[in-house]
Amino acid sequence: MSAYWKEKTHFFSDSEYICSKCGYVADRAYKQCPACGAEMSKSKPDGNWVDEEEMLNILLED
Ligand SMILES: [Zn+2]
Repeated sequence: MSAYWKEKTHFFSDSEYICSKCGYVADRAYKQCPACGAEMSKSKPDGNWVDEEEMLNILLED
């Protein structure tokens, strides 16, 4: 079974990548999840999400 990285975008630090299978948080999109060993396909565009707090930062930006 394949999995993918959910990219968690930060505006003031590097992005995090979250395993769709086990929830492991990685600092980069590895080919394989270091935690559960799932093979990663390309991260899906609709897999992007941001924290509410960061959404607020977006809204406050001009
Ligand atoms: Zn995993």
